[in-house]
Amino acid sequence: MAIVDNIHPIFDRLISREDREKRLGQKSKVLWLTGLSGSGKSTIAQALERKMYNEGFFAQVLDGDNIRTGIGQNLTFSLEDRRENVRRIAEVAKLYMNSGIITLNSFISPTKDIRAFARDIVGSDDFIEIYVNAPVEVCEERDVKGLYKKARAGEIKGFTGIDSPYEAPENPAIEIKTNETTVDEAVDIIFEFVKEHCAL
Ligand code: ADP
Repeated sequence: MAIVDNIHPIFDRLISREDREKRLGQKSKVLWLTGLSGSGKSTIAQALERKMYNEGFFAQVLDGDNIRTGIGQNLTFSLEDRRENVRRIAEVAKLYMNSGIITLNSFISPTKDIRAFARDIVGSDDFIEIYVNAPVEVCEERDVKGLYKKARAGEIKGFTGIDSPYEAPENPAIEIKTNETTVDEAVDIIFEFVKEHCAL
């Protein structure tokens, strides 16, 4: 007998997402920020979280490095494990969403396949793809965490943009070019979207 045969979900007996959204005065969504390391995902997500908080929205950042110290801590950066990492995050984001909370997901999520997987888990209507776009040379120049240097030196293998692919989204809901946009401008652009799609 499969394990699932012994599992009896009780979703239908719980308070609905809609009721929770009403209580919080917002529609919940999953804002999924994808882009190279150093493109600006975390910086924008943190600033946006603060702005949303100040403006009365309930949002929670789920950030790659934080997640990898917790529910993703047994995973490597192989494409297979990245996919598993994203699966876990998408499931967590969905739990938040069903609680009425908007999540700001900051993960490289490098391939179309991985993002399509996340979109499938969350549901297409609620998955908002945001492409945080900076040329790899700009990210390497910033080298916020010193990782590009290590990747160039061969100390890190399979680093996205260096020796592991990054496939740009073809049709993101929002694209931010962070070498042409300030953090505040980026936050304003996404916040306009939030007001339009998440306000009740
Ligand atoms: P990521 O989360 O994508 O790996 P980080 O947010 O950690 O990237 O790092 C991005 C770096 O780029 C930060 O040092 C940030 O200050 C800088 N930066 C410069 N311009 C921007 C911008 N317009 N948006 C976001 N980050 C920017």
